Amino acid sequence: MKRLAVCGSTGSIGVHTLDVVSRNRARYELFALTAHSDVDGLAAQCRRWRPRIAVMSSESAAGRLAAILAEEIPEIEVLAGASGLTQVAMHPEVDYVMAAIVGAAGLMSSLAAARAGKRVLLANKEALVMSGRLFMDAVRDGGAELLPIDSEHNAIFQCLPRAHSGPVESGVRRVLLTGSGGPFRARDPESLHDVTPTDACAHPNWSMGRKISVDSATMMNKGLEVIEACWLFDMEPESVEVIVHPQSVIHSMVEYEDGTVLAQLGNPDMRTPIAHALAWPDRIDSGVAPLDLVGMSRLDFEAPDFDRFPCLRLGFEAARAGGTAPAALNAANEVAVDAFLNGRLRFTRIARIAEATVAACSGEEPRTLDDVLDLDRLARIRAAEFIKTFSD
Ligand code: NAD
Ligand code: MG
Repeated sequence: MKRLAVCGSTGSIGVHTLDVVSRNRARYELFALTAHSDVDGLAAQCRRWRPRIAVMSSESAAGRLAAILAEEIPEIEVLAGASGLTQVAMHPEVDYVMAAIVGAAGLMSSLAAARAGKRVLLANKEALVMSGRLFMDAVRDGGAELLPIDSEHNAIFQCLPRAHSGPVESGVRRVLLTGSGGPFRARDPESLHDVTPTDACAHPNWSMGRKISVDSATMMNKGLEVIEACWLFDMEPESVEVIVHPQSVIHSMVEYEDGTVLAQLGNPDMRTPIAHALAWPDRIDSGVAPLDLVGMSRLDFEAPDFDRFPCLRLGFEAARAGGTAPAALNAANEVAVDAFLNGRLRFTRIARIAEATVAACSGEEPRTLDDVLDLDRLARIRAAEFIKTFSD
């Protein structure tokens, strides 16, 4: 029996994780659940799962949850804030941590889990993008097991010769990172100026949280995933190729020196990578329907269009530049996407804000957690300034 902390349990990945656990109750015990502000959502999960600890972001939300639970399930301990998150991520009784908080807000708990030597199921790609070397060093020094949840990276992990993250074996020539191209793959670039958050969040193949849905529409998601792949598998950006594959059935591939290409296929359902990472090296039921290859009949591939999707180009550029670029790109993107989702920024401005912020924050690679946090803060300030300048 493995004890699991799900950081971000009310989100899309969190809910899919609970679904996989519900099918494998003999193997996993939910020790801790966390949410940002959805008190009722976390209360409902606590009633069903009866974790030992529940965490809310603010003291006031934690107080409201504690008041609800005090009547019904007083044995659940309610914690608040970043310290509560870190506490569950490094709790001595926790074996596995699902890092499924969205954005930089997940950095501290993801890093704490790595330092404490947990099995880290990493969905929170932003944490790795912003703190790459620090994070990978924490995994190594803490003796953690890092299992990628991002479907592409989970696929690569499965196609590598040694099912373990870290430097790839010789014989690997490239990784081929697939991406659907999002909802605007074939849309006239001129018309992108006026797209709404609802348009941008309508992904053709995946149902996800709003931030990653916008990232998929700009293809910033794929750009961040290039950086994520470089850190996870110790690859150079030159060895990572992005291929647009609209059906999202091949989740990524690894190409070997002898011409072999290994691919991982499956229906586009995050319960597959979640189940894989939970059970690895075993396999468990995920609830995902078998892939119907005959019914599907065709798989298409296209080269990515870097003009239509400048955010993808920015991701590659940041991966090559290193230094402050990845963290600045991530912070600027979070600020710009938030502004877009709240009607304060046009969709097509997201790339411009990101590019200007990266240029305004150039410098040495952050070496310590404080460096990373300072850079993140600075990039957010710069991005907010550029939003004022560029909004129309
Ligand atoms: P989501 O918005 O659906 O859920 C986010 C979760 O994080 C929620 O539980 C929310 O309460 C919590 N949260 C949000 N802000 C927080 C804060 N400031 N402090 C503490 N908790 C906070 O997001 P999601 O789609 O589940 O994505 C989660 C992560 O997984 C992201 O990093 C995303 O890039 C990655 N990911 C998601 C998918 C997917 O299919 N949804 C696929 C690949 C990777
Ligand atoms: Mg992905």
